[in-house]
Amino acid sequence: MKNTLAIIKPDAMQKGSKEDIRKDIMDNGFKIVEEKTIHMSEEQAQGFYDIHKDKPFFGELVEFMTSYKSHIMKLEKENAVSEWRNLMGATDSTKAEPGTIRAKYGTDISMNATHGSDSDENAEKEISFFF
Ligand code: ATP
Ligand code: MG
Repeated sequence: MKNTLAIIKPDAMQKGSKEDIRKDIMDNGFKIVEEKTIHMSEEQAQGFYDIHKDKPFFGELVEFMTSYKSHIMKLEKENAVSEWRNLMGATDSTKAEPGTIRAKYGTDISMNATHGSDSDENAEKEISFFF
């Protein structure tokens, strides 16, 4: 599978990091096939993160994702899912490896700058959710 879904989340958008993150993505050999900036509705955020609906942080997650604009991208590269997750780094920005996008642009486990699909199957679902 050559595609994955990436999102620049509201924290990074608000900080003005969108172009820096897009540049990191392209410098690492990804092609941005489709992209758009949206302000997610509560319904969209709940639907997108439906797999987390029973988690204690779900309310906080939806509130965060609807707090400001997000930039949604369909990325292309060989092994796109794992390559993008490696470039993002660990979920918790305070623990993400130095040089990764979450280490550079994120704040903590909640406000962590970017999203990436976690499997080929979910990548396909998430791409059709937004495009
Ligand atoms: P994403 O799906 O956004 O790429 P991920 O796959 O690394 O992140 P998930 O476990 O799927 O991590 O969590 C989805 C998102 O929910 C995280 O990126 C983060 O914004 C938020 N989140 C996860 N765990 C927590 C937590 N313990 N407290 C608050 N927010 C959390
Ligand atoms: Mg996830």
